[in-house]
Amino acid sequence: MHVAVLGAGTMGQGIAQVAAQAGHDVVVRDIESEYVDDGIDEIESTLAAGVEREKVTPDAKSATLDRLSGTTDLEMAVEDADIVVEAVPEDVELKQETFASVEDVAGSETLIASNTSALSLTEIASVLERPERAIGLHFFNPVHLMALVEIVVPEQATDETVGTAREFVEGIEKTPITVRDSPGFASSRLGVALGVEAIRMLETGVASPRDVDQAMTLGYNHPMGPIELTDVVGLDVRLDILEHLREELGERFKPPQLLKQKVRAGKLGRKTGEGFYVWEDGEVVGVSGDTTSSVGAGQ
Ligand code: NAD
Repeated sequence: MHVAVLGAGTMGQGIAQVAAQAGHDVVVRDIESEYVDDGIDEIESTLAAGVEREKVTPDAKSATLDRLSGTTDLEMAVEDADIVVEAVPEDVELKQETFASVEDVAGSETLIASNTSALSLTEIASVLERPERAIGLHFFNPVHLMALVEIVVPEQATDETVGTAREFVEGIEKTPITVRDSPGFASSRLGVALGVEAIRMLETGVASPRDVDQAMTLGYNHPMGPIELTDVVGLDVRLDILEHLREELGERFKPPQLLKQKVRAGKLGRKTGEGFYVWEDGEVVGVSGDTTSSVGAGQ
């Protein structure tokens, strides 16, 4: 299959990597060649780390990279694609513009998918002349490690579209769940509900970030606590989702002031080196604002 991934950021990189690892020819498209190159470099580093840990063979790494290419040219990226997955920022207008411009240049049978975390697929797909071939493919971060893909089914999708999406997901060795299009789907609505309550607990001084996280890692066997997970996802990404869910589902999703302040300060989590924790080389090295701390989360 030919796969086009739009956006070479956190999620686009991961989606492109797993699709190429599964044997698909993948083109990644971003708006600046610098972003495309950075995205492909990141994929190469992730694969190299996999080789080091003996999870990926050196041959599989080079075959994966051979199947990957990058461009800033939308038409070149999507004209031969069987499936297009957009992973551009979480903004409904941008996603609608992206879908419409894909439809202008893609084949009439191309599946057009969005990796949106929480926006309405039905609304995004409404700009298409043939909205029945639109679907949500909600991947999780980091894509190469996370088994789940949530298939989000908009009002307009046909059974054939859902079937093709399922086959694609199973073919890249992920496990699909199918969810009707509704605000936050299943995973974001539940994940964000826990995350927002955890941030409110920090705001009201109930416990430290580490203790809140340990409540869930040690008390409920979650692999990562809700505060650390917010740092990994990106505070800006979580804020966008909360704003959307508040609009759709009400005040219980009102973004906490502390989250808004952090985003305004550019403390977006792991990707900027600081969020609720301080990060170095992808690892937690302290708690934000705590000058005495230099040990990792979970300690
Ligand atoms: P990101 O900011 O890391 O990457 C977005 C990329 O899209 C950037 O490189 C940007 O330059 C590029 N871009 C912007 N406009 C574009 C366009 N018109 N065409 C092509 N590329 C364009 O964001 P991300 O974290 O990868 O999130 C992308 C999407 O995935 C969002 O909808 C987000 O909600 C969703 N998502 C994110 C996570 C997560 O943990 N970060 C998890 C699941 C889903």
